[in-house]
Amino acid sequence: MSLIDRFRGFYVTLGEGFKSPTTVQYPKEHRDMGHRFRGLPVLVTDVTTGEEKCTACGLCATACPNNVISMTSEPHATKGRHPVTYTIQAPRCLFCGLCVESCPVKAIQMSHVFELATTDRNNLLYDKEKLLELGRGIYDEIEQTESGAWLEVTRFPEEAVTR
Ligand code: SF4
Ligand code: SF4
Repeated sequence: MSLIDRFRGFYVTLGEGFKSPTTVQYPKEHRDMGHRFRGLPVLVTDVTTGEEKCTACGLCATACPNNVISMTSEPHATKGRHPVTYTIQAPRCLFCGLCVESCPVKAIQMSHVFELATTDRNNLLYDKEKLLELGRGIYDEIEQTESGAWLEVTRFPEEAVTR
């Protein structure tokens, strides 16, 4: 290696040393999640009624490749049916999003929740109440793109706060 090559290497090292760090002090600091990040699937509330959007059709449970979702249901006055219990076994979830794609009423969404570590396995069973709590603040709105097309966009709580 010539002396010039050594100086080139030193120059690159020096240049990198003055750049701001690309890492963050996790868990004290958190990065902004990418909009399409797939965290734990959660249940979404209908803002007009305050109830879960879910109609307990079972399509998400059928679409799930790993039997993560289970539910029981009963008749409902306006929706036909609604879930009495709805459980997601987080350790089995592949975060594939097939449940979200299969839902006809957008009642389940991939959230930005990813910090699931716990010392008690029972905490990894997410019941309807926990899933609705985690899904609070997620909503859809219609947005016009630069090309003029109208798109339905899912908003997450952190985006709603900063908008
Ligand atoms: S994300 Fe995939 S694995 Fe997880 S509950 Fe939905 S369909 Fe099942
Ligand atoms: S979350 Fe959607 S697909 Fe799953 S049972 Fe409820 S309405 Fe059906």
